[in-house]
Amino acid sequence: MSGNARSAATDVVVVGAGAAGLAAARRLLSANRSVVVVEASPRIGGRAFTESETFGFPFDHGCSWLQGPSSLPHIKLAEEAGFTLVDHSEPHGLLFTPDGPGGEAEIEAFDAAADRIAATLGAATEDVAADRCVDLSDPWAAAAATWVGAMDHGVDLFDLSTADFGIYGPYAVDALVREGLGALVVRLAEGLPIRTDTAVTGIGWSGQGVTVRTTRGELRARACIVTVSTGVLASGRIAFHPRLPAATQAAVDDLPMGLLTKIALKTDGNRFGLQDSSYLTRAIHEPLPARACYFLAFPAGWDLIVGFVGGRFGWELSRDGEEAAIDFALGELAGMLGNDVRRHVLRGRMTGWADDPLTLGAYAAARPGRHAARAALGQPLGERVFFAGEALGGAYPALLSGAHLSGEAAADAVLGQLG
Ligand SMILES: Cc1cc2nc3c(=O)[nH]c(=O)nc-3n(C[C@H](O)[C@H](O)[C@H](O)COP(=O)(O)OP(=O)(O)OC[C@H]3O[C@@H](n4cnc5c(N)ncnc54)[C@H](O)[C@@H]3O)c2cc1C
Repeated sequence: MSGNARSAATDVVVVGAGAAGLAAARRLLSANRSVVVVEASPRIGGRAFTESETFGFPFDHGCSWLQGPSSLPHIKLAEEAGFTLVDHSEPHGLLFTPDGPGGEAEIEAFDAAADRIAATLGAATEDVAADRCVDLSDPWAAAAATWVGAMDHGVDLFDLSTADFGIYGPYAVDALVREGLGALVVRLAEGLPIRTDTAVTGIGWSGQGVTVRTTRGELRARACIVTVSTGVLASGRIAFHPRLPAATQAAVDDLPMGLLTKIALKTDGNRFGLQDSSYLTRAIHEPLPARACYFLAFPAGWDLIVGFVGGRFGWELSRDGEEAAIDFALGELAGMLGNDVRRHVLRGRMTGWADDPLTLGAYAAARPGRHAARAALGQPLGERVFFAGEALGGAYPALLSGAHLSGEAAADAVLGQLG
């Protein structure tokens, strides 16, 4: 699926072969439009990325929960292609205090703190930084707030827009994919005209149509759909001619990338009395941003315990490097399960989204007060350059489902424009 050379005019160039780009291309092709998808990486899928080399079984570096509405084609495809969806809508979880597994009172206190934060943020009428609404003197606030902010949104409460919180639509599916969600997403690329190893360096949108400059020549098209992350857009790696209008540039700047980093630890088969696909939460009572790591034990039955760190601490740990991150995660795990757990961990791996030049973070989070930037980024340029991707995920922002739906929506807008 790679290619080069200067191409004849095509209807639409899609920039990026992640979930949004694949969805857009499929929609355009089904409307009999000619499409070229241009992807900088040698692989397809973007932040949907499963690989089996590291551990000998599938590990999702990016998305791993399939969450979203029933319209997602992934649900039917999973069944047809023999993928196993492991329902995770009611996950089992354990809370650990410094004295060992938390009792009913601690669990109730943690749950109540999480509910209070959700209720407060959900009721916020102004778009402000979430920490301004939450009572951080609550002894359970740090533990609960870290889940809400750093883990779910990739940013701490200081950096979380209250309007970004609680906008999620209902989930018809909430499942882990045993064979890897990234692997499932890549199935949607079958038959699509994708040029991998081809980075877009510039998009000209003056005059008629668009000119897409790539590392393998120039493409002319009537329109293009840009699905790269807001991190990539902000980096200036793609030069727009004319420049992005001030409103679009401001929207990009107001949607910086949050970070979620996974620290995956392969175990030797021991289950430590834990259920598959269960959460381990460590009670922390420290000021935000907390040095917190939450774990998913044995996702979909694999011999793996996956630590998650996010927000400012996630960036810090990613900068410290893989060895330090694994060491930290092991220490956290030992604090919960006992030191013996170290003996059962065979190897570790930290995901690299913080430094990946093709994403520059995990997913976008609106700056406090700037939630409207999502709608602003959704405005096309000159009726021929359209944006899509998780930042424009509508009722499912930051998620794979939102990325997919935004790709379909951008394709529909292009089709409307092309007539
Ligand atoms: C650690 C982590 C965990 C996550 N967990 C979940 C989860 O459990 N569930 C969930 O629903 N979502 C999750 N997500 C989010 C989900 O993975 C993303 O929302 C989704 O995959 C984004 O798709 P996209 O098409 O918008 O962007 P991308 O997948 O980033 O696609 C954009 C593509 O553009 C390419 N590109 C970049 N620059 C250029 C260029 N100059 N020229 C050409 N191509 C370029 C990139 O290589 C990439 O392939 C997670 C993300 C991360 C990082």
